[in-house]
Amino acid sequence: LSSGVTITDPHLPDKPIIFANPAFYSLTGYSPAEVIGKNCRFLQGPKTDPGTVQRIREAIATRRTFRENLLNYRKDGTEFWSELTVGPIFDDDGKLINFVGLQTDITERVLSGAALREAKDEAEKANRAKSEFLSRMSHELRTPMNAILGFAQVLEMNGLADQPRECVTHIHKAGTHLLALINEVLDLSGIEAGRITFSLEVVRVQDVVRECLDLIRPLAAARALQLTAPNDADAPAGAHVLADRQRFKQVVLNLLANAVKYNREGGSLQVSWREEGADRWQIRVEDTGFGIAAEELGRLFVPFERLGAELTATEGTGLGLALSKKLIEAMGGEIGVASVTGEGSTFWLKLPRSASSLQQCEAGGEATEAIAGASSGAVLYIEDNLSNLTLIEFLFSHRPRLKLFAAMQGRLGLELARQHQPDLILLDLHLPDLLGDEVLAILKNDPATKHIPVAMLTADATPGREARLLAAGADAYLTKPIDVSALLRLIEKTLAPRADQPRQTL
Ligand code: ADP
Repeated sequence: LSSGVTITDPHLPDKPIIFANPAFYSLTGYSPAEVIGKNCRFLQGPKTDPGTVQRIREAIATRRTFRENLLNYRKDGTEFWSELTVGPIFDDDGKLINFVGLQTDITERVLSGAALREAKDEAEKANRAKSEFLSRMSHELRTPMNAILGFAQVLEMNGLADQPRECVTHIHKAGTHLLALINEVLDLSGIEAGRITFSLEVVRVQDVVRECLDLIRPLAAARALQLTAPNDADAPAGAHVLADRQRFKQVVLNLLANAVKYNREGGSLQVSWREEGADRWQIRVEDTGFGIAAEELGRLFVPFERLGAELTATEGTGLGLALSKKLIEAMGGEIGVASVTGEGSTFWLKLPRSASSLQQCEAGGEATEAIAGASSGAVLYIEDNLSNLTLIEFLFSHRPRLKLFAAMQGRLGLELARQHQPDLILLDLHLPDLLGDEVLAILKNDPATKHIPVAMLTADATPGREARLLAAGADAYLTKPIDVSALLRLIEKTLAPRADQPRQTL
């Protein structure tokens, strides 16, 4: 790869090229007579980006070295992407002598980058379509399954002779398995398509573990397994997490069921939990099964992957762990495993901790000053869903320098915005009295509030909607379930520079 080199004279009118190397001529297709004495701009054409050209002009005017990617044209009219580096040359007294330019043809690199982005977009689209399809199909399959299972059970109860009863039992068992499969696929694709909503609340770990253990006890007894869990007296105190209770339970139950299914006859199973850093709890399920080989751990959370269990009598769909991972991550947590072959496995999950006594918002829509303290920034949250409010309040309770105002109705939100002039407004799309779009329009048209950045927070993740809201003046768009770290980054970005700057857009 050889680069074209040009030298221009900044002291002559129109800053012409006074030297070019052979590589420059072969790159552009021009001859020396056509190049020497001309300004470099003859290489530009209709599709050259004017913004880039403007930046180049400014750099040259201020005698800075710069590098820009620029679309240029050869003599025969064909386009090429040039990586252009230009630098001023000064003499010993600091006087400007020349500019030296270096042009490298990066067309291939630019085009393959664009092709890659296109392929990625396509893949994402296909993935969404797949999730959509799976979820629809699962719905359709569930209806006939109800009939199959229902009537199989009726037949079983009707005192059939041995042989037909055995047949019906097979139908019943296979049907139950199929239903589990369908439900799990439905869940999995629902999460992927962003259609499952989580309602986060403060959950006592001990309660969920106890309920799950009660359910699993008969299975464990059938395999003569010993179950241990801390009792009320010696359980770590204050273990509350912020989670969707039903989903949390589903995951714990799945881990316990696996610890029973993949345990050895007469082995044991232990549940425990402990604090993980300042803001999370870790829940652990330890078994004395045959363990999982290190090289297989990577496939553990992959849908339909059963690591050989499909060849054994142990029933399963291979979807439980994949689903658990999605659920836990959607709730802002983490799931993982440590295993020693021949000794057993420890599956763990981590969830954000929650203070046990959270202030509740008054359901009547009263404004709640949730956080007191030195206010170095104030955020107004307009949202009618109590569990989402609770989540945001929880987040703010760890940041005493931030002040949170909450309004459960659009009109009240507008009033608070005018009155309190927050630094950021988080706005839900579905409010009981006004649509989020309307609230946004009013905020952006009112001189008293139009400078306040607004971030939309919504479960409706269609790209069209996002573009429309951004065009309508929203400064950011976050989807639910809320990605906690994205939200915190947004808050950080909006509120941090307050000390020296009046206000910052997102
Ligand atoms: P399923 O149990 O329905 O097959 P999962 O997604 O829950 O599906 O688990 C995937 C695979 O991981 C299981 O088939 C099994 O091979 C392995 N596995 C899960 N839990 C354990 C465990 N506690 N000990 C050993 N292997 C396990």
